Amino acid sequence: MEELDRLVDTSNRDDDLSLRPATLEDFTGQTPIKNKLKIYIQAAKNRTEPLDHCLFYGPPGLGKTTLAGIIAREMGGDLRITTGPALEKTGDLAALLSNLQDNDVLFIDEIHRLNSSIEEVLYSAMEDFVLHIMVGKGPLARNICLPLPRFTLVGATTRLGLLTSPLRDRFGIVEQLALYGREDLSSIVIRGCSVLKVEIDLEASFRIADRSRGTPRIALRILRRVRDVAEVSGNGRITEKLAQEAMDMLGLDEMGLDDGDRKILEGIVDLFDGGPVGLSTIAAALNEEPQTVEDIYEPYLLQLGLLERTPRGRKATSRTYSYLGRKCDNHGEQ
Ligand code: ADP
Repeated sequence: MEELDRLVDTSNRDDDLSLRPATLEDFTGQTPIKNKLKIYIQAAKNRTEPLDHCLFYGPPGLGKTTLAGIIAREMGGDLRITTGPALEKTGDLAALLSNLQDNDVLFIDEIHRLNSSIEEVLYSAMEDFVLHIMVGKGPLARNICLPLPRFTLVGATTRLGLLTSPLRDRFGIVEQLALYGREDLSSIVIRGCSVLKVEIDLEASFRIADRSRGTPRIALRILRRVRDVAEVSGNGRITEKLAQEAMDMLGLDEMGLDDGDRKILEGIVDLFDGGPVGLSTIAAALNEEPQTVEDIYEPYLLQLGLLERTPRGRKATSRTYSYLGRKCDNHGEQ
């Protein structure tokens, strides 16, 4: 499958930065998290302390980076962004940390992929705002200790379970972002239209929401493509009919599934008799990475009830059979 061509590929960060909400008020949905963050931010400000370190987890495209930006703004600091795999040497992290100012937010995406030597440097930076690093080698090696500004670390991960417990324990605020419902996605699309200065009918925003797999990044990406169609083939306004035709043309079905998803479901049903089948077996049969199948495809298929996760592997459900138009025999939700 050509990963980068997928309209619904959440790992592809081609976001239009102008669409990113700058305040908690503009951040749609995730109300329980927003309410808590409002209190924590206010309390930290009252004490003139940095906000406690935050860990956000959940599938890509749900707003983890956006929340980090909002926190930085609310705390009056700047946002610095990096990723776990980009930090190769302890010196990389030391350079980043020592260039921060008080109240800045350091955002580390894919924080479960940090290597262990970097993680250890992070512990004292998070806990005591000091940098312990070894300089030199052999008998001349020295441990030096530098004070750091009082920053907030925001970590993001798709896999909470892959974080080591010492790292996880150093986050005071740990929140899971859930997939968005259609009302929230419709609001995100409507807000996107006002930023992009394009008119849209309410029904059209719901049609886009329905095919967005619960993910704002996908909703906004579809919106940008549908807007192209509206500008070229219509009169610029996004009507329900135009949205529907544009999305059909883009290969998204009514539920927001594309060829990649259908291949996974067909694979389980046709090659493995409905499962249960192990993740790595599915991934190998489809020529995909197991992590891609787990992070990018599965959350939405599970949410739709088109896939079931069992201790023995992934299984098709009766819905999978009816979605694919197959007869269910003795399979399905046994
Ligand atoms: P993540 O870091 O979880 O992968 P991002 O924060 O990069 O996700 O968000 C992806 C895109 O979706 C961005 O363009 C962002 O503006 C938009 N977005 C995410 N969550 C929301 C939200 N709650 N309200 C409005 N837009 C959102």
